[in-house]
Amino acid sequence: MRLILLGPPGAGKGTQAARLTQKHGIPQLSTGDMLRAAVKAGTPIGLQAKAVMDAGGLVSDEIVVGIIADRIQEPDCKAGFILDGFPRTVAQAQALDTILAKMTMGLDSIVELKVDESALLARIENRAKETIAAGGTVRADDNPESFKIRLDAYRQQTAPVSAYYASKGTLRTVDGMAPIDEVSKALDKIIG
Ligand code: AMP
Repeated sequence: MRLILLGPPGAGKGTQAARLTQKHGIPQLSTGDMLRAAVKAGTPIGLQAKAVMDAGGLVSDEIVVGIIADRIQEPDCKAGFILDGFPRTVAQAQALDTILAKMTMGLDSIVELKVDESALLARIENRAKETIAAGGTVRADDNPESFKIRLDAYRQQTAPVSAYYASKGTLRTVDGMAPIDEVSKALDKIIG
């Protein structure tokens, strides 16, 4: 099963992807997690991406497409994968189509979690509080200033990705404002 979860920052993509991973035994491919790991490890990609990520902007299509192209060829992706945070631009979506076509693969489900923008900042602030309570380190971009830029990037560059899949007739939507379990149930219904 190959699945894409779309939605703005704080929509719950990561939470739902983690649940789907548990349930279906396929990996969650979060470009955000992979980039944060690269930053932590100080790799050339990490060094290049850090400033733009901290500010809330988007890393170049070339970098993230390269990361995903490599990752989906790994053996654990044979049975499928859940893309979380990718594609974030129409160019990335088109590049993914090309990569999958070369591998004679397709996408099974593309689901957008719909949320009220007014609820997102509170969710991000809550995530930061929970991280601190659990003894973790808050993401450098989970602050109001970076969040505003992330939301702008979403509106301008990522919302068109939903339109791209909608125009192909492959986009499904789920109410991301519903309780977490309800969202999971709605996703299960779509995925089957
Ligand atoms: P996330 O964990 O998905 O919220 O991503 C954190 C940050 O990583 C984003 O704000 C971007 O700076 C960067 N990032 C993650 N995925 C992508 C992507 N597909 N395209 C561009 N930048 C990305």
